[in-house]
Amino acid sequence: MTPGSLPQVDILAVGAHPDDVDLGCGGTLAALKKRGRTFGILDLTRGEMATRGTPEIRAEEAQDAAALLGASFRHSLDLGDGGLRTDRDAELQVIEIVRATRPMLILAPLPEDRHADHVRAGRLVPDAAFYAGLRALKTAHEAHRPQNVVFFPATFVPEVTFVVDVTKTFETKLSAIRAFKSQFYNPDSSAPETFISSPAFFEGISARARFFGRMVNVDFAEGFISARPPVLDDPVRAFDGFEPGFRTERA
Ligand SMILES: [Zn+2]
Repeated sequence: MTPGSLPQVDILAVGAHPDDVDLGCGGTLAALKKRGRTFGILDLTRGEMATRGTPEIRAEEAQDAAALLGASFRHSLDLGDGGLRTDRDAELQVIEIVRATRPMLILAPLPEDRHADHVRAGRLVPDAAFYAGLRALKTAHEAHRPQNVVFFPATFVPEVTFVVDVTKTFETKLSAIRAFKSQFYNPDSSAPETFISSPAFFEGISARARFFGRMVNVDFAEGFISARPPVLDDPVRAFDGFEPGFRTERA
């Protein structure tokens, strides 16, 4: 699929590997979809270094997961799992997709993490998002700069800038993660155990969402980091539900 055949979206969520987006911000994407926002997923690599599964299996699983979350598309580049490229050619490939899909907001891996590909992706994506707005840079599509790039954490969890209540879409997120049958905990699999295939890792997904949720008195939330703070229309409403008796309905 060429970038030109991808539809325009409100949000572009980018991961280094297939399943990064689902793990990092799947609940938020599903919640935004319910609000009428459109989103696409870009995986920068095919996940060919994974211990379990093959790139072909992961590609199928990734499409199943994207359909569960409600993505307009899921597209994959081939920038090299376990050595993600950030050279000018890689940057231009991301620029072309940003320009073709014209998102208002980009979600990207936090560039402080255990996995070096996440670190590199977290630097490549905001650079490409900025350069995509330079009119003098001529590519196949017109210049476009998203309003902001917001980061989602993976293994390392720093202080977050804001959280999104994903209580109503948390089951959808878990279904999307389970769609990666080859990667995560599966008692019937005889493949070697990895960092992410243990039952503890899967429990950790819920524990993380509970942790962020506890900060704001909801069941499940996802945390995000932004260099610039979001603007709140109504700071009173923003803290609804922090104490009992004041809750209004959250989306
Ligand atoms: Zn990853």
